[in-house]
Amino acid sequence: MSDDDTFCASGTPAAAPDTDKASGPPYAECVLCREPTEYPESTKGSTLCPVCEWREAERAACSG
Ligand SMILES: [Zn+2]
Repeated sequence: MSDDDTFCASGTPAAAPDTDKASGPPYAECVLCREPTEYPESTKGSTLCPVCEWREAERAACSG
């Protein structure tokens, strides 16, 4: 019996990184939808809101 479970929806997307979380406003804008993220404005690089972050993670997990 093969146990090769490559079903995309198995498992949950990785939780958002708990580093550099802002404890309050101002938050950086999501680079995709302009919604406020959980990250401070001083965060370098692209910031994603929880929704877009989750979608990106799922896309990465389901590439192909
Ligand atoms: Zn977003």
